[in-house]
Amino acid sequence: MQGSARTAIIVGAGIVGMATALRLQADGISVTVFDAREPGTGCSEGNSGGFGIGLVAPIAMPGILRQVPRLLLDPEEPLFISPRIFPRALPWFWQFARNARPHRMRQIAAARAALNHQVLDTLMPLVKLAGAEDLVRHEGMVFLFRGDVVPTGAAARFRLSEDHGIVTERLDAAEIAGLYPGIATDVRIGVRIPGNWHCTDPLGLVTAFARAFEARGGRIVRADVTALTASGTGVVAGGATHTACHVVVAAGVWSRKMIAALGYSVPLEAERGYHLMLPKSGVAFAVPTTLADRNIVLTPMDNGLRITGIAEFAPIDAPPDYSHCDRLLAQAKCYFPDLDGGGAERWMGPRPSTPDSLPVIGQAPRHPGLWFAFGHGQSGLAHASVTAASLGAAIAGRRAGINLTPYGIERFQRSYNRHLSLSPPS
Ligand SMILES: Cc1cc2nc3c(=O)[nH]c(=O)nc-3n(C[C@H](O)[C@H](O)[C@H](O)COP(=O)(O)OP(=O)(O)OC[C@H]3O[C@@H](n4cnc5c(N)ncnc54)[C@H](O)[C@@H]3O)c2cc1C
Repeated sequence: MQGSARTAIIVGAGIVGMATALRLQADGISVTVFDAREPGTGCSEGNSGGFGIGLVAPIAMPGILRQVPRLLLDPEEPLFISPRIFPRALPWFWQFARNARPHRMRQIAAARAALNHQVLDTLMPLVKLAGAEDLVRHEGMVFLFRGDVVPTGAAARFRLSEDHGIVTERLDAAEIAGLYPGIATDVRIGVRIPGNWHCTDPLGLVTAFARAFEARGGRIVRADVTALTASGTGVVAGGATHTACHVVVAAGVWSRKMIAALGYSVPLEAERGYHLMLPKSGVAFAVPTTLADRNIVLTPMDNGLRITGIAEFAPIDAPPDYSHCDRLLAQAKCYFPDLDGGGAERWMGPRPSTPDSLPVIGQAPRHPGLWFAFGHGQSGLAHASVTAASLGAAIAGRRAGINLTPYGIERFQRSYNRHLSLSPPS
């Protein structure tokens, strides 16, 4: 393939790659996507479906380090770290710890809020292009807690959302019982974020993007990219070199290795999550619901109730540990005793996670025409369309809806980190 000013190659057909492909194509660029897998069958297939507009807080919140020993030692908690990722992943955890400082957390929350504010404006045009309106719903989101008080850590997260203009509403025991027939009686307090949207079939959404892209003349080549060319504006795939004016690396957690060959090092780890899909759960509610004491999300989807959770830091290619799914079901049953786990499908996928809960979006500093679009962690479904719109604007030389500086790969370079650590608390 020959490069021209109006051509682009996208590496990876997950939600981020396909949203970007559709966006660039709509801007009149001739786009080719490379991926050996079917679109969406990486991490994007099995997520909780939340567009997370109200979720501003990063994972690294002040005080989290004190909780780590308990999180790791108690098998009922959702965090697992495989010793096999050390010592390579040490810098990731070091940077995570530094991001939990209050002033840094506030900077990150502001950068997450900026992405969240753009979600609906950037998502809906793509959904419309793909004819996928029936896959996105506006039902809000509810967080449920056992007992009578919202724990301090969760309350701090809601306050942060409110500081960024998100409306939250308290639910009392009677309202909870009305919304969730059959729920355990010790679940007596909840918080609703009415502005949230969700997707009822995350794989269906990527598939719809891919179909719309191909129907408009886009090409998806079922082959993996084995290397980027030295210039950054070409890829090697299927034994041939393909060039374009722009190359976008949107290969999820696999992006780290791909860009390392061009001298870019980025802290990107596989934070593996699990789900159970219950075809006939026996519980009926319309709102995506987080069982907040356990960080488990229950989402009503087109083909059943999806139960998601777990943050397992492990090598990308390690076999899944499906005992996590059994734990998810047992914990969900503490809230919904009548939950029917019969016929459940189990799934694992690697969230491409950075230590600051922000994606890497922007141009490679030393390779004009090479663009990064990965590292979306727990928010890739939500932030895919914002990434796509931002890259589309940057490639076309238009003003982007957001300032891309906080998302640049430059933030992981040593001097930049030093600068951040010296900056006074805001
Ligand atoms: C349990 C769970 C729940 C989640 N819930 C939510 C949620 O509610 N809301 C939300 O916003 N996010 C959620 N997420 C996160 C979200 O799913 C991810 O952030 C998102 O899917 C990442 O998309 P991606 O396109 O970057 O990666 P992927 O979907 O993994 O796609 C990357 C693609 O790159 C391809 N690839 C890899 N190497 C190569 C190569 N060499 N050449 C060509 N192609 C290559 C892969 O085959 C893959 O198809 C959740 C994740 C999990 C696991």
